Amino acid sequence: MIVDRPPTGVNGSAGGQTASSSGAAGPLSMEPDAMRALGYAAVDALVKRWTTLRDADPWVGADRATLDAEPLLSDDAPEAPEGADAVLAAALGTVLPVAARVDHPRFMAYIPSAPTWPSVVADLLVSGFNVFQGTWQGSAGPSRVELQVLEWFRGWLGMPEGSSGLFTSGGSAANALAVVAARARADSGADFRPSIYLSDQGHSSLERAARIAGIPAEGVRVLPSDAGLRLRARVVHEAIEADRAAGWTPIMVAANGGATSTGIVDPLAELATCCEALGVHFHVDAAYGGFAVLDPRGAALLEGIGRADSVTLDPHKWLFQPFECGCLLVRDPALLTEVFRVSPEYLQDTALGAPQVNFGERGVQLTRSFRALKVWMSVRSFGLGAFRDAVSAGITLGTWAEARIRRSDVLEVVTPAALGIVTWRARVEGDGEGDGASVALHRRIQAELTGSGTAFLSSTRLGGVHALRLCLLNPAATVDDVEAVVSAAEGVVRTARGDA
Ligand SMILES: *Cc1c(COP(=O)(O)O)cnc(C)c1O
Repeated sequence: MIVDRPPTGVNGSAGGQTASSSGAAGPLSMEPDAMRALGYAAVDALVKRWTTLRDADPWVGADRATLDAEPLLSDDAPEAPEGADAVLAAALGTVLPVAARVDHPRFMAYIPSAPTWPSVVADLLVSGFNVFQGTWQGSAGPSRVELQVLEWFRGWLGMPEGSSGLFTSGGSAANALAVVAARARADSGADFRPSIYLSDQGHSSLERAARIAGIPAEGVRVLPSDAGLRLRARVVHEAIEADRAAGWTPIMVAANGGATSTGIVDPLAELATCCEALGVHFHVDAAYGGFAVLDPRGAALLEGIGRADSVTLDPHKWLFQPFECGCLLVRDPALLTEVFRVSPEYLQDTALGAPQVNFGERGVQLTRSFRALKVWMSVRSFGLGAFRDAVSAGITLGTWAEARIRRSDVLEVVTPAALGIVTWRARVEGDGEGDGASVALHRRIQAELTGSGTAFLSSTRLGGVHALRLCLLNPAATVDDVEAVVSAAEGVVRTARGDA
C-alpha cells in the first residue's frame, strides 16, 4: 500500500514557507467557497451543454470582422479584476459557443470526436493536480498509468511484448516523432539521402513530418494507390529498389490504418512482409482507424498492424477522448530514447534507472500533461465492452449509410463504407455538367444542411472526383440521423435540378 506522506527532507518541516505555498494565500488565490462555487458553476454549464447538445446546431462560426467588432474579444487585459463569475459567463456566452460542436451526432464532417464524461473529468483532475509527466521523479503514479495504458494499446494491436511509446498531443505529433526517429536511426553520415514512402491517400501530417525530419521534398515518395485506393507492396518494393540503386536511403514506409478521406485500410500484412524483406521501418498511421481493432470487422481489416515498427493512434478520435490525446507506439522504445534523450545537468536527479521511465526522454516535450488518465478512467468506468460497442456502432452505421445512398435515385456512392466513412456524390447526368457545376451543387448541399442546422458535412477529392463524406464515429448518431441527412441532400439535388 502506498501511503500519502507529507514531504520530508529539505524544507519539509520548515514552518516559515507554508503560508506562501498554501493554496489560500497570495494575489492569485481564491477562498475555498469561491473555488467550489466557480467549479460547480462550470460543471453545471457543461452538463447543460451536454444534455441539450442535440438542440444546438452542429456548427457555429463567424468571420474575423464580426468577432473583431465584439469588444470583449478585442480589448486589452484588464488591470482590475472582473470577477470569476462574470468571466465564466463571458466565456460561456461569447467565446465557447462560437465553434463547431464536434461531438454533435450530426457533425459528420472531418473526424468527429465524442468524448466521454469521465474523460472530461479526468482532464479537470489532471489540470487541478497539475501533474508534471516529464520525469518519473515528477510523477511516479501517473507515469505508471501511462505505461499501463500504452500496454493496453499494445495488446489490442497485437504488437510484441516490450513495445511501448508515449502519449502525444495528437496524430500529427506522433507521426513527426516517428519520422524523426526513423531518420535519425538510419542516418549514415555523409551522402545520406533519406526517402520516405506513403500512398496518395496518406495523411498530410506525414509530409509535414518529413519536413521536420529534414527529408528533402524529392525524398518524399507519394506512391499511387490501386483502384481500391490501397497501397500495394509491389509498388512500394519497386520504388524502394529503384531509389536504393539511385543512392537514396529509404527510411520508412508509412501505411494507412484507415485513410482520413475514406477510412480505407492499406493491406498491412502484405506491406509488413515487404518492409521486413527490404529492411525498412514500417510505420502505420492508424490515427484515424487504429481503435477499430476493438471490433472484429475492424480487426480483420487491420490485420498485420501488430507487425509494424511504429503505430500512430489518436484516442481523441475513435477512443472517445477529449482533445488533446494522441499516441505513438514503437516496437523498440530504445528508438525513441536514442533519438530524443538529452541529459542536462539540472535534471541529473531524475535519472532513476531504466524501469522508471522518464516520458520526457521519449519525445520533444519535457513538461507534458498526464493524457493517459482520461483513457484509464473512462475505460475502467464503462468497461472495455462498452467501448467495443461504441466503435462497432460507427462501423455498422457506415454500412447502413452506404446501403441507403445506394437506394437513392439522385445520389451515388464514391467509396463504400470503410471504418465508419462513406463518400458519395450527386449523380451527374449527361455530359452537360462539368466538374465546376458538380462542385457548386455539392457546396450547395453543404451550405443548405449547415444553414438549416441539419448537419455539418465536409468534402474531399478522390481520383479527380469531388465527393462528400459522412464520417460516423459518434456512437450517439443513429439511423434516423443518417436518414435525415441523406434525404435533405436528396431534396437539395432535386430542387437544384428543378431550378436548372
Ligand atoms: C487525424 C489524422 C492525423 C493527424 O492527427 P491530429 O490528431 O489531428 O494531429 C494523422 N493521420 C491520420 C490518418 C489522421 O486521420
